[in-house]
Amino acid sequence: MRPDDHEIHDTALSSISLPSGLRIEILYVDGEPFAMNEEPGTRDETAARSDAEMLEALDNLTICGSCGSPLVQPVDWAGHGADAWRVELRCPECEERGTTLIEDGLAEQLTLFHERARALVELSMIRLASDNAEQEIERFARALQRDLIVPEDF
Ligand SMILES: [Zn+2]
Repeated sequence: MRPDDHEIHDTALSSISLPSGLRIEILYVDGEPFAMNEEPGTRDETAARSDAEMLEALDNLTICGSCGSPLVQPVDWAGHGADAWRVELRCPECEERGTTLIEDGLAEQLTLFHERARALVELSMIRLASDNAEQEIERFARALQRDLIVPEDF
């Protein structure tokens, strides 16, 4: 029994293939998408603690300090020494720009964060498309019931 078992959250792993060919694994922690491409079984409490610090660091990189927009994105990357990156960030809402130095691990998380954001956008488009398809099918079924569609329609 690990002394910190009480800190373990409900987790669920979902794996999705997107039309773009991107295959992602999303780990949901307490119902919130949390991290991708990571086996939940390999996470220990040390990792969880550094994950919390990582999330805070990610917030600093993705939330605009000027206008509070959560859409801040890296526009340029350059290697800095052996294990760090110099990242230029831009806020699309207020055009605030900034440059920051981050270490490799955080750079990787930032990349995953943006891949995940992209994947979530793709997912919501898929859901929208399938909602529309369902509505089409419902309309078609209603038309069939009312004999509004006859063999000559085909
Ligand atoms: Zn801003």
